Amino acid sequence: MTVGALIVGAGHAGVQVASSLRDLGYDKPITLVSDERYLPYQRPPLSKTFLTGFAAADTLALRAERYYRERSITVLTDDHLADVTLADVCSGSGTAVTSSGVALPFEHLAIATGASARQLEVPGCSLPGICYLRGLDDAVRLKALLPAAQRVVVIGGGFIGLEGAAFAQSAGKQVTIVEATDRLVARAVPSVVGDFYRTAHQRRGTRVLLGAAVSHFLGEDRVTGVALADGRILAADLVLVGVGAVPRTGLAERLLIRCDQGVLVDSRCRTSNPRIVAAGDCTRAPHPMAPHQLVRLESVNNAVCQGRVAAASLLGMVDHYGSVPWFWSDQGAIKLQMVGTFDCADSHVLRGDPADEKFSILHYRDQRLTGLTSINCSADFIAARKALESGKNIPADQASDPSRRLKDLLAEPALIL
Ligand SMILES: Cc1cc2nc3c(=O)[nH]c(=O)nc-3n(C[C@H](O)[C@H](O)[C@H](O)COP(=O)(O)OP(=O)(O)OC[C@H]3O[C@@H](n4cnc5c(N)ncnc54)[C@H](O)[C@@H]3O)c2cc1C
Repeated sequence: MTVGALIVGAGHAGVQVASSLRDLGYDKPITLVSDERYLPYQRPPLSKTFLTGFAAADTLALRAERYYRERSITVLTDDHLADVTLADVCSGSGTAVTSSGVALPFEHLAIATGASARQLEVPGCSLPGICYLRGLDDAVRLKALLPAAQRVVVIGGGFIGLEGAAFAQSAGKQVTIVEATDRLVARAVPSVVGDFYRTAHQRRGTRVLLGAAVSHFLGEDRVTGVALADGRILAADLVLVGVGAVPRTGLAERLLIRCDQGVLVDSRCRTSNPRIVAAGDCTRAPHPMAPHQLVRLESVNNAVCQGRVAAASLLGMVDHYGSVPWFWSDQGAIKLQMVGTFDCADSHVLRGDPADEKFSILHYRDQRLTGLTSINCSADFIAARKALESGKNIPADQASDPSRRLKDLLAEPALIL
């Protein structure tokens, strides 16, 4: 029997590993294992067009069933890869077993197990009416419960929480966002954008409570309220919890692969066992633009880029994940697009006015563009992405003038002596 490649997890990363293996000429069997009951699908629309009804479940598939058939990629759905053993400790080959008892011998192994929604473990947390949003089943449940709800409490002011809040608000619900820190999306966006989000959601009628910790949930048969640590009680018919995602590292740990808040990989997506690769939300990797920094980038762009690199590494080819990261979030009419990084920046240029809900912030280090965050300014995002991908700069002293198009300002970076 010819053994081939086994890919655990069939999200954006796992599917990309499979299709890149074929693109690179791999001609042995490829098996993708997914513990979800659907063919691999896109997650971003779950909190956007799927909730609003613009996209039906059957339009979310990453690839048509035919795609896998034509490329001889076997997709095992609704089966959990429960155990895996290597032929020996240094090897990348071995045998895996699924919960339903299917044995899968493999010669190459890719871990693309993604992440799961972080659970809020407080008293009352298992009451019906408390929802999470990570997979299609979650989105179906949330969508079904929303029409009967009047008061919706969203716990967590990150992207998932804000997208859910925007949807509930646009459906005419009374929405309250409860965020434990003093800013919205504190980890992922600069403070100007966090402040902008707060104002924009409040302008639409959503209540935003910052610095507010949940102590427990109220209710008997189903949730009726959220109690905060400071004693306040928020009445609720429906609660959406969006307090982050936890990388699924269990399988990697079983293989004694190094994990620390994610499966640790290098820029070639190799784990501490260099014959086994990992890609996507389950990994923590060198930042493509700041290689000394280990980060977990939860984005489609990262999952796809890492999937490509991981496939090359499995075949002994050299490819490094060095592409410029980007991300988007849609909250009703507010479209955010980010590219590059703002973490290492030492100065920022604001272009446009947040009060108009149309602006960009350009991030600089030593006068060199490191990233851009834009709200409803796709042209700025495209120009900055082009600049960063081609190693060009957008001079900071000209970028603040919104009458000038950023794409006309692309310049070779000044030589720093
Ligand atoms: C609601 C939502 C909205 C989002 N919006 C955006 C957005 O606007 N822009 C953006 O860039 N990103 C967005 N993201 C993030 C993006 O979807 C993820 O970064 C991306 O899906 C990660 O892909 P992945 O393949 O690494 O992991 P996942 O998509 O998590 O796939 C991993 C798969 O592996 C399965 N699995 C895990 N362990 C096993 C096992 N042992 N056996 C079998 N199967 C297993 C999991 O069930 C899952 O199906 C969003 C995410 C969510 C949840």
